[in-house]
Amino acid sequence: MLLSFVIPAYNEAPSLERLYKQIAAQVQLSGHDWEIIYVDDGSTDESMQVLTDLHSRDPHVKVIQFRRNFGKAAALMAGFSQAKGEVVFTMDADLQDDPVEIPRFLEKLEEGYDLVSGWKFPRLDPISKTAPSRLANFAIRLGSGLKLHDFNCGYKAMRAEVAREIKLYGELHRYVPVLAHWRGFNVTEIKVKHHPRQFGHSKYGLRRLSRGLFDFITVVFLIRYTRRPLHFFGWMGLISMLLGVAINGYLSVLWLMGETIGHRPLLTLGTLLIMIGVQFFSLGLLAEMLSYSILSREEEFTIRKQLG
Ligand code: UDP
Ligand code: MG
Repeated sequence: MLLSFVIPAYNEAPSLERLYKQIAAQVQLSGHDWEIIYVDDGSTDESMQVLTDLHSRDPHVKVIQFRRNFGKAAALMAGFSQAKGEVVFTMDADLQDDPVEIPRFLEKLEEGYDLVSGWKFPRLDPISKTAPSRLANFAIRLGSGLKLHDFNCGYKAMRAEVAREIKLYGELHRYVPVLAHWRGFNVTEIKVKHHPRQFGHSKYGLRRLSRGLFDFITVVFLIRYTRRPLHFFGWMGLISMLLGVAINGYLSVLWLMGETIGHRPLLTLGTLLIMIGVQFFSLGLLAEMLSYSILSREEEFTIRKQLG
């Protein structure tokens, strides 16, 4: 079996060679064929020299260099597109993930799972990172219905189909298991050893928190409504419009009975609600057109097996 290791790296020069040695030692024990795909995400340190050197010494090492820093999700996509293995691993480049766990990931895949996600346990990061992380994990668990403990672990193993079918952009790399689960793949987790960062520093600071909130909204919306956006916007539009019509209807009755209504704040509210309602509706219909044109071109289903 061929194993592909996709490793996004942004300014991780001191770790790259060690990681290569650790992985090589581990997979040679397992007897599988292997390749490592380092994706240099626009590093400004010596990462590229180190990787060029590794590649020239060992053809198992493949390297993709981005022109600038495009982010971890983009790096993973680039790596997935080149990965030839039946099983694709993703690992962080900073030596926090331990290659000793590789056989345990493979065992889980053999049990029939399509994606195995790591659960950093015990997690060796500063509390400033673990506390917000807990909150995020709780919210994602609730919003996605996928029962994992650690959504922000870069260490994963998946069947090639999963890597092929999942589309990541922006900062959606945290949602690989969620997107896989959504497409019908069997997702599970195993506890993995976690090491403190030895070299360099974390690329994700506090900003991750605010961004994380928006990504969360995006993913929950994508999962629930990509195929039926009007069901989301339509309800809001309908409720708003009905309220507006009721209010303005009431005012019309008063007007017919001879009252003046031009000065009533209620009139503004009614008109506003009708306008907002129409807007929500149009937005929903536009979204339907978008979904239709995209989903009719791409496969919106995933096939597990085909006979004949
Ligand atoms: N990374 C990347 N591009 C970025 C930021 C990070 O490729 O723009 C890589 C980074 O080099 C590391 C992995 O993503 O291999 C995880 O990053 P980091 O260790 O900083 O995250 P943390 O472990 O602190 O959550
Ligand atoms: Mg790290």
